[in-house]
Amino acid sequence: MIYETGAAVAGRGSDLLGDVGGEALARQGAGRSPASFGAAGQSTPLLEKLARSYWTEPADYAGVGQSPTSFGAAGQSPALMDYTDRSGELSRRASAAQPTLGGISVESIRSDFPILSERVGGYPLIFLDNAATTQRPNCVIERISRYYGREHSNVHRGAHELASRATDAYESARSAVARFIGAEDAGSIIFVRGATEGINLVANSFARPTLRPGDEIILTQLEHHANIVPWQMIASERGARLVAAPVDDCGQIILSEYEKLFNPRTRFASIAHVSNALGTVAPVGEMIAIAHRRGVPVCVDGAQSAAHMPVDVRAMDADFYVFSGHKACAPTGIGAVYGKPELLERGVPYQGGGNMIEDVTLERTRYQPPPRRYEAGTGNIAGAAGLAEALEYLTRIGMREIEKYEDALMLRLVSALADIPGLRVIGGLDARRVCAVSFVMAGRTPEEIGRRLNEYGIAVRAGHHCAQPCLRRFGLEETVRPSISFYNTFNEIDRLADALRVI
Ligand code: PMP
Repeated sequence: MIYETGAAVAGRGSDLLGDVGGEALARQGAGRSPASFGAAGQSTPLLEKLARSYWTEPADYAGVGQSPTSFGAAGQSPALMDYTDRSGELSRRASAAQPTLGGISVESIRSDFPILSERVGGYPLIFLDNAATTQRPNCVIERISRYYGREHSNVHRGAHELASRATDAYESARSAVARFIGAEDAGSIIFVRGATEGINLVANSFARPTLRPGDEIILTQLEHHANIVPWQMIASERGARLVAAPVDDCGQIILSEYEKLFNPRTRFASIAHVSNALGTVAPVGEMIAIAHRRGVPVCVDGAQSAAHMPVDVRAMDADFYVFSGHKACAPTGIGAVYGKPELLERGVPYQGGGNMIEDVTLERTRYQPPPRRYEAGTGNIAGAAGLAEALEYLTRIGMREIEKYEDALMLRLVSALADIPGLRVIGGLDARRVCAVSFVMAGRTPEEIGRRLNEYGIAVRAGHHCAQPCLRRFGLEETVRPSISFYNTFNEIDRLADALRVI
C-alpha cells in the first residue's frame, strides 16, 4: 500500500499523538485522498541507501537493527512503504527500546528539561527549533539562581568575599569553555554576547586593522547574516570587498572553487562550520589548511557546531572560533570567542571602557593583556556561570554520544521528510546534516506550514533563517526548518512527519 485513506491516517494519528492529537488529526486527515497531499515524494535509490544505513546502526538506538522490510511486505522498498504504517510501528519500537546516550536514557535526559513537559494547544510540546536556540536543563536554571542568591557582585574590582565568588564563577567559566573546545587555556577565551558579537569582534579587532583598499575577505554562500554583515561593514569602510565560495546543489562547498578565490589581496576568511539553513557541514580542517598555505587567518563560525559535535579548535587549527551559549543549553546573552594566543596579542580592541584597561590618563590608555582587553564593561557574569554549567552538562552526557545520537535522529528526519509527497528537501538527501534541515512543500508557504504545525504543538522555524544568500542560491526566499537536539526522540520526528501529511 502506497498511501492510506484519510480515515486510516486519522487512526494512526491517534496512536502517535495521543487522544487529543489523534482526534484533531482525524478531523484534518479525514476524507483526504493521497493525491491531495501533493506530487510524488523524493523517494530515490539514494534515500533507500540512506534509510538502510540508518537501520543498520548499532542496536542501542531505537528501531535500529530492524531491516526496513521487517516493517512491511517482504521486498517492499522502505522509501515506497507506507510512511504512516512505518512510523507507527517505529514509534512503538522507539518507545519500547529506550534509546540511550552513553548509558543515559533519552527519557531521563528529557526529564532534566522542565520545558519539554509543556503542552501547546493541548498537545505535548515537540521542540524542533533547536538551531534558533536550545532549551535549558534544571542544573543551568539552578546555577543562575544560585549565582544570584549567593555569589553575585561585580568581578575583578573588589577586595570583598562576594567579589571573589563572582570572579571565581566568571574565570572558572572561562576555563570550562577552553576545555570544552580544546583551547590552549582560559587566556584564549573572550566572553561576548554570542556568535554575532563574536564575529563583530574578530572583524573589527583583528581583520579591520589589516585591510587596505582592494583587499579581499573570503566567505561562503552558506553564511548566516551574522557572518556577512560585520565583514561588509569593515570592507566598505576600508575599500575592501567580500568574495564567497560557491556551494553545489547538495549544499556542499566546492573546495576547488574556494581555493581559487585566494590571491595576494586575500586578508581573511570566515566560514560557518555548519550551515544554519541547510545543516550541511563545511570541511573546515581542509579549508583552514588551504587558507594557511597562503598565510590567511580563518574565523570559524561555530554557532551551529559547538553543541552538536566534539570541537577541537587546535586540531582544526582555527585562528578564531566563535559560538553562542544559548544554542548549547546555556543562557542567552553569553558566548565566546576563541583566538590563538599570538593573534590575541596583536589585536586592537574596538570597544573601550572599564575592565579592559590597566592604566588611563586623559592622554592615553594602557590595555589589560588579552583576553580582558577585549571585554570592555561589566560582562554577563551569571550567563558565564550558566554557560560553564551547560558545557559541563553536555560533557557529562558526552559530545561523541550526542553526535552519534543526533546523526541517527537526522537520518530518520531526512528519510521521513523525503518520503512525503510534494515535499522538497533542500540540498542532497545523502549529505551529512547537523541539527537542521530545510524543506518546502508544494502549494504551501513555509509560514503556513509553521503555523499549522504549531497547532499540533510542533515548533519549527519558517522564514529566511538569516541566511538569504544561501536560500537564494537554491532559488528560494523561505523554507521550513526543523532542527534537532539530543533531547528529541524518534517518536517526535515520526509525529512531525505524520502531521506534515495531514496539515
Ligand atoms: N551564525 C550562525 C551559523 C547561526 O546559526 C547564528 C544564529 N542563528 C548566528 C551566527 C548568530 O548567533 P547569535 O544570534 O546567537 O549571535
